[in-house]
Amino acid sequence: MTTSSTTSSAASADGSGILPAELEDLVTLFDVRATDSPTPDAEREAALQAPKFGTVFTDHMARISWRQGDGWLDRRIEKYGPLQLDPATAVLHYAQEIFEGMKAYRHADGSVWTFRPDANAARFARSAHRLALPALSVDDFIGSIAALVRADIDWVPSGEDFSLYLRPFTFASEAFLGVRPTAEAEYLVIASPVGPYFAGGVKPVSIWIDEHYHRSGPGGTGDAKYGGNYAASLLPQQLAAEKGFDQVCYLDATTNTSLEELGGMNVFVVMADGSVHTPELTGSFLEGVTRSSILQLAADRGHQAVERRLPLAEVVAGLQDGTVREIFACGTAAVITPVGRLAGDEFDLQVSGGEPGELTMAIREELTDIQYGRAADRHGWMRRLA
Ligand SMILES: *Cc1c(COP(=O)(O)O)cnc(C)c1O
Repeated sequence: MTTSSTTSSAASADGSGILPAELEDLVTLFDVRATDSPTPDAEREAALQAPKFGTVFTDHMARISWRQGDGWLDRRIEKYGPLQLDPATAVLHYAQEIFEGMKAYRHADGSVWTFRPDANAARFARSAHRLALPALSVDDFIGSIAALVRADIDWVPSGEDFSLYLRPFTFASEAFLGVRPTAEAEYLVIASPVGPYFAGGVKPVSIWIDEHYHRSGPGGTGDAKYGGNYAASLLPQQLAAEKGFDQVCYLDATTNTSLEELGGMNVFVVMADGSVHTPELTGSFLEGVTRSSILQLAADRGHQAVERRLPLAEVVAGLQDGTVREIFACGTAAVITPVGRLAGDEFDLQVSGGEPGELTMAIREELTDIQYGRAADRHGWMRRLA
């Protein structure tokens, strides 16, 4: 199922597009136990034509098991399917679980790439540390993704803004009700084909600034990609949706005055002078790979790119007097999402006349051009998987 390793792609970091031998070694560690009941071609093709995010999964999953004392064992690619869990499995009670989110992109020449997987691997290890879970090596992280993508290569869609979403995760699998770090864990990667986040063109979203709920606080788990952070965001998200808003933006838990991030996306503000601002990392919200890439791309374009405390009052005043020109949110799933409306208890303001901002859309296009191999990968962000 592996594709030729010699086809060239214009977009590889070193210009060769040749798969590094070292990646082959990592993939070889995974024992491929192929499904005996793959999805029929016609059914798969239909799913790829109109993918519904997170509902359809590929035929296989990558898996590695961990036991205290033995380490990571049994690297394998196996049939995608239900897990059997003892009712006392620790994750079901104490939520010891971390995850990542990334994408595999098919380039015009058929090769398949991913974006900055080393950054995701490093963050996954940091999340593991915070949740007292075993950390996976960068090699196993990248090897598992490449092995799964190769097993399910026919599931990587082609076409504008289509990709294969990859979801690596680790959970506490020990059946034990005592409160202590698990002595057993499972690492899995599952994959789901996705189409354009905005069917029918990019549309600005409305954002509710929540001045009552926080998803994390200082010393908490906000800078880990931890399932529990999402559980904490569901009620505020539901309340905002009832008011007619698409997403919630949270404020810092200490002063309740500065922007932090959305439930699953980082936030940026573009000023009238062209400078681009995003909340500085405080340890209480997630450091997005998209966020750091945008800081770089904005600076490359000659914009001042600033990480700093971003007071809500300044953003509100800036929208009123015109010093704030654009606001956008960013993350792997939606790439860059323009914000067209910002509201809270005491304000309700249009952003960029309710239209996608100019710089927002320019950076969005540049980033997706790099990811899909339409623009030179000048920062060496792309890694070829197959
Ligand atoms: C995943 C995630 C993001 C975005 O991170 P990317 O690496 O850009 O995909 C932002 N905030 C939260 C809370 C997240 O979980």
